[in-house]
This record gives sequence, structure tokens and C-alpha cells, in this order.
Amino acid sequence: MSAPKRFFIPNITEETVLSGDEFRHAKNALRLAEGDEVTLFDGSGAEYAALISRVEKGRMIAHVLNRSVSDKDPKTDAYLLIGALKGDKTELVVQKATELGARRIGVFSSRYCSAYMNENKLERLNRVAHEAAKQCLRATVPEVKYFCDLESALRSADGYDNRLFACEFLESGEGIAASKGSFALVVGSEGGFSREEYELARELGFRGVSLGKRILRAETAAIAFLSVAMFVAGELG
Ligand code: SAM
Repeated sequence: MSAPKRFFIPNITEETVLSGDEFRHAKNALRLAEGDEVTLFDGSGAEYAALISRVEKGRMIAHVLNRSVSDKDPKTDAYLLIGALKGDKTELVVQKATELGARRIGVFSSRYCSAYMNENKLERLNRVAHEAAKQCLRATVPEVKYFCDLESALRSADGYDNRLFACEFLESGEGIAASKGSFALVVGSEGGFSREEYELARELGFRGVSLGKRILRAETAAIAFLSVAMFVAGELG
């Protein structure tokens, strides 16, 4: 028997209503009916086992049976900051970062960044994070925030134990092998970083990191950097 289908519902009560997209997905795609088991989560880290108790026009009612705390979310607090990317590449990074366990995701504009962000795009990125969390069985969902300049993005990482800045023009960096505790990772957009931006990051306490001798595409760099950091933190495997 397959695992109960998962639904993200911000307000879970004993009789939880599934409406809108969640209802349409449950009814039309999954063909759920009265008596079917589902799992509800609200992004807080808790999960709720529930049974569909009523199907009405435009909504379903799920009766909550019990609450548990998920063990799928990483213990390490990981924050990924990525320059806004062209096309749907930021979505790709948000999806992969959610699967890899990022707790927060920031998207920023910087000097050589040519992609733009607006309310719709940001909403779409948050939907991508919800879908990815649902699919990978996480019970928390990283919030995606936008910063209109690099400095405010960098300052949003104050307090992290390790603040690492991937910089394509560094021949060797300080590395992440010895990093312990929470971490914030910064990766530039397709246009990369300027020397001044690197200096700003250093002044704000970031360590410069090289990801090797080849120049990676921004989305490759973000996914590889987060994967390695999660591995070092013991969160993969
Ligand atoms: N336009 C830049 C160039 O031609 O050198 C390349 C920017 S790269 C596509 C985008 C971002 O990925 C960089 O700003 C950096 O954060 C990261 N990146 C890519 N390759 C890297 C490397 N070898 N070391 C460190 N960071 C790297």
C-alpha cells in the first residue's frame, strides 16, 4: 500500500478543510474519497494523520486523528542565498535546495544580475518550495524571500556560525571542510560577483570559498555548494 498523500494546509484543526488547489488535486488527480487516509502538514515541523470524512462541492473535510513530529527535516540550520537567475533557473534552485534541506532561501539582486523579481515570481518560488517539501516528505517549508541588494541579503545571514561566499575568481578559498554548526551560503547570478561585492562580503564576516578550477553555472554552483555543506554537516547519508 502506498503512503498516504500529503497536503500542505496552513491552518490545521480537528476538522480541516481542503479547498482550492489542494482540493482539486485531491479530487481530480488523486481521486481521493471518503475514508481515504491523508497526511497534513502546516510547515511547522509537525505532521497530522487524517481521514477524509466528507466530500462536498469545492471542498473536502479531513478529520485529524493524531499529530507527530517529523524526523525528515535536517537538524542543521542551512540558509541559501542565490542571485536572481534568468528563466526558470531560480525555481530549479529553490526546488533542489528544499529537497536538500535548506531552512531558508534568499534571492537577491546584485551588480551583474540581469534577472528581475516581482510579486508573482516570488509567490511562484514559494509555491515551488511547498511542492518540493511535499514531494520529499519534509514537514517544514523554507520561506523564499527577496532582497533588492546584496548588502541586505548578506546582513540577513547575521548570526550564522559559518557564512560562506562562493566566489568564482578565488583560486583557493578557506574551504568548508572544518565548518560546524549553522551555515549561510552565498552564490552569485549568471553575471557573477564584482571585486567590491567580494570585499563587502569579507567586511561583513563571510569567508570566500572556491568551488574548484572550473566555472560552474550558477544553478550548478548553488546545488553543489549546498550538497557539500549538508554532507559535511552529516545531513546526507
Ligand atoms: N560570469 C562569471 C564568470 O564568467 O566568471 C561566472 C559566474 S558563475 C556562472 C555564478 C556564480 O556561481 C558565481 O558568482 C559563484 O558564486 C558561483 N561559482 C561558479 N563557479 C565557481 C567556482 N569555481 N568557485 C566559486 N564559486 C563559483
